[in-house]
Amino acid sequence: MNVVIVGAGVAGLGIGWKLAKAGAKVKVLERAQAGSGATTASGGMIAATAELGHSETPEAAFARRANELWPGFVADVEAQSGVSVDYRKNGSLMAALKSEHRGHSHGGEHPAASGGQPNPHAQGADIAMLTAEEARAMEPMLTEDVAGALWAPHEATINTHALVRALVTAFVKAGGKLLINETAVLVETEGGRAIGVRTPFALHRADACVIAAGAWTFGVEGLPPGALPPVIPVKGEIVVLTPPAGAVLPKHVVWGNEIYVVPRADRLLVGATVERAGFDTSKSPEAYRWLLRQSTGLMPALEDWNVAEHWAGLRPATPDGLPVLGATAVDGLYVASGQYRNGILFAPAVAEVMSRLILERANDFPAFDPRRFDGSAPHVPASVNETAHRAPGKDSGFQEWHTGF
Ligand SMILES: Cc1cc2nc3c(=O)[nH]c(=O)nc-3n(C[C@H](O)[C@H](O)[C@H](O)COP(=O)(O)OP(=O)(O)OC[C@H]3O[C@@H](n4cnc5c(N)ncnc54)[C@H](O)[C@@H]3O)c2cc1C
Repeated sequence: MNVVIVGAGVAGLGIGWKLAKAGAKVKVLERAQAGSGATTASGGMIAATAELGHSETPEAAFARRANELWPGFVADVEAQSGVSVDYRKNGSLMAALKSEHRGHSHGGEHPAASGGQPNPHAQGADIAMLTAEEARAMEPMLTEDVAGALWAPHEATINTHALVRALVTAFVKAGGKLLINETAVLVETEGGRAIGVRTPFALHRADACVIAAGAWTFGVEGLPPGALPPVIPVKGEIVVLTPPAGAVLPKHVVWGNEIYVVPRADRLLVGATVERAGFDTSKSPEAYRWLLRQSTGLMPALEDWNVAEHWAGLRPATPDGLPVLGATAVDGLYVASGQYRNGILFAPAVAEVMSRLILERANDFPAFDPRRFDGSAPHVPASVNETAHRAPGKDSGFQEWHTGF
């Protein structure tokens, strides 16, 4: 089977690698460089508990499946590529501060930000409740203002730059072809069926075409209205700190004061803002100042750390907050997008689900059917509404963007 995939982020590369290993002839088309979208702008957290907890939604079930797949995925990609992806299962602390307040304009990503209390969905069998003293014993840099914390020992992180290098190498070794600087302009159809993807250089014919273009999913042309699901860009900014001489990095991911900090080798990522700004990826001084202020509120010693980097990326979100994974109303055309804040966590499960759909026509997660937005989905599950509280696109902002596109 010939497959063409648009987008070399963690989704496109993961799916491509899985399909190539199964014997498909796969091409990935990337308009810039591999990983240059949200993937390398992310915090690299594999945060199934902090983000989705133990709720019974399809999204939480998908997160748990992805979490189970991660150790094997890492072992396989490292063995095939010879690249270490710096997978660390060091756990995460979700701290509640006494003075914590809600409703900042940047709408940070703290999972325990409901009035300073831990998110009830983040509690479960593998979560421990810590006193302030216990939390500070684990992370001495935590502010004395900490009221207590949840401890999720199974959470992990990954270096997403290394992950992209590893996936590219493993994909190519498995026989896949990556074409960079190759922008997909339109999906070519014949008799209502997708027959390939056209770029300025060629028509790449395929039996199956997969759009895995992240926040830009909606930008591929040539299709009837409603064929592609609405995917909304949601901007996120991160600043990166390096320690002064003699200072040590935190050992774990720490969430609190509406932000998170992620230790990575010799640096600390502080993230992330959540903002609807269309396709704007400029670095804003307000976000920079807010992230630094919140980080010193969480860990006062960070005041003395140096800012090494600041970046912005676009998360692919959907109006109902669920991913879009599966077939579209156009025969032969598939979409893998809408992973929003969890695209790194979800990656191995996205690869598994999409390859089963394409090769075996097995649909393990019908709740994520991309056709649910145009009414042609065979089944629109009631449980979609259960996650509506997480939906980033329920307000009029989505409509404005959608019509303005
Ligand atoms: C600040 C921030 C922090 C985050 N932190 C986390 C985290 O800690 N954990 C987590 O799980 N998730 C996190 N995320 C979310 C995660 O990064 C995304 O969900 C995930 O990377 C999406 O992967 P993707 O491959 O679908 O999209 P992308 O990585 O955006 O890749 C899409 C690719 O498609 C290419 N493309 C677009 N249009 C075309 C075209 N027409 N032709 C060819 N190529 C095209 C782009 O250049 C890009 O390389 C974060 C995101 C941000 C922005």
